[in-house]
Amino acid sequence: MLIYVLMSIGIDPEYGGTGASFFCSIIVIEELAKVDASVALLCDIQNTIVNNLLKKLGTEEQKATYLPKLATEKLGSFCLSEAGAGSDSFALKTRADKNGNDYIINGSKMWISNAEHAELFLVFANVDPTSGYRGITCFLVDRDTEGFHIGKPEKKMGIRASSTCQLTFENVKVPETSVLGKVGHGYKYAIGSLNEGRIGISAQMLGLAQGCFDYTIPYIKERIQFGKRVFDFQGLQHQVAQVATQLEAARLLTYNAARLLEAGKPFIKEASMAKYYTSEVAGLTTSKCIEWMGGVGYTKDYPVEKFFRDAKIGTIYEGTSNIQLNTIAKHIDAEY
Ligand SMILES: Cc1cc2nc3c(=O)[nH]c(=O)nc-3n(C[C@H](O)[C@H](O)[C@H](O)COP(=O)(O)OP(=O)(O)OC[C@H]3O[C@@H](n4cnc5c(N)ncnc54)[C@H](O)[C@@H]3O)c2cc1C
Repeated sequence: MLIYVLMSIGIDPEYGGTGASFFCSIIVIEELAKVDASVALLCDIQNTIVNNLLKKLGTEEQKATYLPKLATEKLGSFCLSEAGAGSDSFALKTRADKNGNDYIINGSKMWISNAEHAELFLVFANVDPTSGYRGITCFLVDRDTEGFHIGKPEKKMGIRASSTCQLTFENVKVPETSVLGKVGHGYKYAIGSLNEGRIGISAQMLGLAQGCFDYTIPYIKERIQFGKRVFDFQGLQHQVAQVATQLEAARLLTYNAARLLEAGKPFIKEASMAKYYTSEVAGLTTSKCIEWMGGVGYTKDYPVEKFFRDAKIGTIYEGTSNIQLNTIAKHIDAEY
């Protein structure tokens, strides 16, 4: 029951969800990531992207079909990236050609999280490549649709409990009622949901860093060298204090971006700042925690090396750190 609640945080009660706020999703993602970043990602994609898009754009029929299932038993995936379209995601090549009352989808996707177990796939495909990105459209594709293949999960450095798969579409026929939102508006939905989703990744990185810190501090308060606790060396205390301060700053950036979004205020620059900074802090915190624990921190007998590996993805998905910096700079350019 608990897991159902965590997978349907923003879904309205009439569809079986809790009807709670976006901010609640952020807190849940943070708390889960204190223990495992992959579980947090599962919850993040479901709540901040898949459920959110369906809730905002779905027809009554689409909502009635999918939201109760997403609230109780089914996972969703967000399928934008391709081999040749990562940061430049609107360069995607997957096509959807109109055929009577249907669309025929052909192409492939890469790096799709949760794909191994997901039942519903939000697939971005171009219905009119001559219109460039203005042809991009979002389709709801069920897992068992003929011609839709899900590859084996990638072997990754971190977040290994989260499946990341390639998808291929070979003449996948979907009815026109599976278009989510408006034809040709997919690029707006993709960028809009990533802008919001970034706050979720920020919360994931924040929770991960805090979980690693919380694990490490008790250890260094017990470990004795030179006749005293290693925590008592001032050289170490200053590093701990610096990391704790950065964690607090990352938390405030994350919560502020979520607060602005909920208040209907501009939040895109702040979301990018939060994701960029928190990912940096997660890398730094986990690296320092390994150093503070010494040799045992470097072994798989303790969870700190896993936190370190899991942290790296924060600088890559839902917009790399460079892409966040581009967004921040673009806003500063417009503001001055
Ligand atoms: C584990 C994992 C899970 C993922 N899950 C999903 C998912 O569920 N759905 C989905 O659609 N995608 C997903 N992705 C894809 C992810 O969003 C992309 O990997 C990411 O956007 C970067 O694209 P890329 O890997 O092609 O790198 P590239 O775009 O090739 O970037 C390579 C380097 O070039 C830099 N760069 C590129 N453009 C610029 C620029 N304009 N200015 C400055 N620097 C630039 C980047 O910052 C990076 O350092 C996932 C990826 C991973 C690894």
